[in-house]
Amino acid sequence: MEKILISVIVPMYNEEAVIPATYSRLKEVLDGLKENYEIIFINDGSRDRTRDMLMEICEKDKTVKLIDFARNFGHQVAITAGMDYAAGECMVIIDGDLQDPPELIPKMMELWRQGYDVVYGKRISRQGETIFKKVTAKIFYRLLRSLTDVNIPVDTGDFRLIDRRVCEALKQLPERSRYVRGLMSWVGFKQTPIEFERSERYAGETKYPLKKMLKLAMDGIMSFSYKPLKLSSWLGSLLSVFSFVYLIIVLLQKIFFPESAQSGWASLIAVSLFFNGITLLMLGIIGEYIGRIYDEAKGRPLYIISELKNMEDREGPRFKMTK
Ligand code: UDP
Ligand code: MG
Repeated sequence: MEKILISVIVPMYNEEAVIPATYSRLKEVLDGLKENYEIIFINDGSRDRTRDMLMEICEKDKTVKLIDFARNFGHQVAITAGMDYAAGECMVIIDGDLQDPPELIPKMMELWRQGYDVVYGKRISRQGETIFKKVTAKIFYRLLRSLTDVNIPVDTGDFRLIDRRVCEALKQLPERSRYVRGLMSWVGFKQTPIEFERSERYAGETKYPLKKMLKLAMDGIMSFSYKPLKLSSWLGSLLSVFSFVYLIIVLLQKIFFPESAQSGWASLIAVSLFFNGITLLMLGIIGEYIGRIYDEAKGRPLYIISELKNMEDREGPRFKMTK
């Protein structure tokens, strides 16, 4: 039987503490598969020794490739670049901090051989993460699910194996605010979950501070639903009805009991603040969408690569190297 090529895509941002361990554990699992493989590391503009360490590995081991970004473009963009440059018949996307166990890859391959195009890792538990992160993640995945018509599985990260066909489909999606796991659900194909326990980060700290988490969450919701926009019509109608009823009451009061009409500064200011708040909130939501439209309209490339290692001849669909 002819050997197939598997691409493993690993985004790395300031991960010097985990690189040796990640590399050796991946290597062990992949050697055991008895297939051809390549490991594509993406250095997402790290400020520590990540790039140099990955380069060193590339020098010694030609199965390891590196995409070196010109700056930090973010996790979702990094895995997109990995898929753009991967050559395998199937590819695995995995976090660089060993929270997603590489030992699951053989099982994923088995399911892929049975004919599944996407085998996604579903987290049945998470270790070593703050209560805050666990709770917000749980709420977010369910909120997203209730807001969209695309069937995006809950408690599922980017750890997954995908077939070449899925990758080719994803390459045709040009959008800039990328919520990759959602896009994968959107393209469809035969998908199946595989359950796993998410372990603790091997070393170092999370590279997803609250700000990045919020951005990812907003990208997920805004790119897959326009229900937040409808909120303003609903709230607007509801408040109009209430206001109208209250208006009638005030008028009747004024006509029939003129003496009882109050001076009413407090109630006026309260109503005014409330309505102003709602209006600004709704403007904000509209602004979020407009900002994203603006980003798309500019049509900038999704990422800029400063260097490719061990795959200098490959061409990505989104960015042309000039040298
Ligand atoms: N990552 C990245 N760019 C970023 C942030 C994170 O490439 O701007 C990578 C990071 O190196 C890791 C993966 O994305 O391999 C997941 O990040 P992390 O483990 O910090 O997120 P968490 O597991 O805490 O949600
Ligand atoms: Mg992690």
